[in-house]
Amino acid sequence: MSVEVIAIGGYEEVGKNMSAVKIGEEVIIFDMGIHLDRLHIHEDTDIDKMHSLDLIERGVIPDDTLMKEVNGKVKAIIFTHGHLDHIGAVAKLAHRYEAPIIATPYTMALIERTIKSERKFKFNNTLQILNAGEKCQISPEITLEFVHTTHSIPQAVTPALHTKEGIVIYSNDFKFDNHQKLSPPPDYQRFRELGEKGVLALIVDATRAAEEDQAKTHSEKVARIVLQDIMEGPMKENQGIIITTFASHIERIQAICDIVSKSDRKMLLLGRSMERYCSIAEKIGILDLPKNTSIYGSPKAINKALSKADDKRSEYVLLTTGHQGEPDALLPRIANDKTSFIVQPGDNIIFSAPIIPNPLNKANRNLLEQRLKSKGARIYTNAHVSGHAGREDHRDFLRMLTPENIIPSHGNLDMLTAYAEIAEEEGYRMGKNIHILRNGQAQVFND
Ligand SMILES: [Zn+2]
Repeated sequence: MSVEVIAIGGYEEVGKNMSAVKIGEEVIIFDMGIHLDRLHIHEDTDIDKMHSLDLIERGVIPDDTLMKEVNGKVKAIIFTHGHLDHIGAVAKLAHRYEAPIIATPYTMALIERTIKSERKFKFNNTLQILNAGEKCQISPEITLEFVHTTHSIPQAVTPALHTKEGIVIYSNDFKFDNHQKLSPPPDYQRFRELGEKGVLALIVDATRAAEEDQAKTHSEKVARIVLQDIMEGPMKENQGIIITTFASHIERIQAICDIVSKSDRKMLLLGRSMERYCSIAEKIGILDLPKNTSIYGSPKAINKALSKADDKRSEYVLLTTGHQGEPDALLPRIANDKTSFIVQPGDNIIFSAPIIPNPLNKANRNLLEQRLKSKGARIYTNAHVSGHAGREDHRDFLRMLTPENIIPSHGNLDMLTAYAEIAEEEGYRMGKNIHILRNGQAQVFND
């Protein structure tokens, strides 16, 4: 029986991830993401009314029309975690397949929210929860297992497909973080056991493989210490503090809330996506918001809260959306005096997020920082650690799994080839057992 890996999206870019694995006549799909850069869209933007073919043409969602040529029955659509570059196209694409959607509870809750706001397509797929550490039988030939891993959003998993031909592992996305507050370390022991059983193919997150400066991606514990260090002074000095980070980064948001809860200040979580990710996380018991914390998502409620905070800035810490400088997100709106909170000299603005490197973000972010500086604010950048594995993490992972074949994914050609170099150092060989695919290409094993 042959096993075929089909690269649909995310093999030429960081974004719109989607892969399919065909085992005999049965097909498993992994992820249906969007490419945020392509539409100048961000966490707060709606694509609810747009048609999928239009979005495919713009390069916003994966071009899954090639699945028509794949001679097999789709048995399941599996989501690894709740980032938009993995789940963002679910409402546009999943309805085309008569197959259940399988995800962990937090990922599924975010998927349900996306489906509910969809205006273009009707949705009939069944939703099936699978927790990390659990298995489910997809067909007599295929068993799915979710192995616990860590990333920059809770309940990320590494799915393993057990087949007669060997195990196929789809490892998008992950980092090896042993010191998160909300998540235990990755299940290294299980990865080693899978390696011993025999991994036929590893599809793996190469996003940070090309970065020379960080061999091992730092733990969230490092970000917690950096944030505490930055915040301590301004908190004691009764200065204004605004922090901005990814709305989906629940681990980071918990850390910030915990730091603030040890002071007399009130914490305000502000922004539409902040409200969406945090309220779902709180509802299912992942995020434990201290008593002094409030969340506001609607413009009216945000403005009311900001008005109070503007009067008594030493009594609040604000956590907002808008870290990329997106003009209609909250922090740029604050910087442009479009809310009732006016930035004053001595206010502290902390960016707990990197600039996602594309020319538009760089320009927007630069403009935002200049605006804030011109008002006399103090700017702190890079209070952040990455959510993706570094070079030495990858080496560790390869030694745990000892896969027969490797397919780097989730990156442009530079990133995929940088991963290939790491694999070659570990004894693999390009073209023999390292396979670099472009969107729309496939690799067959055991034919
Ligand atoms: Zn991710």
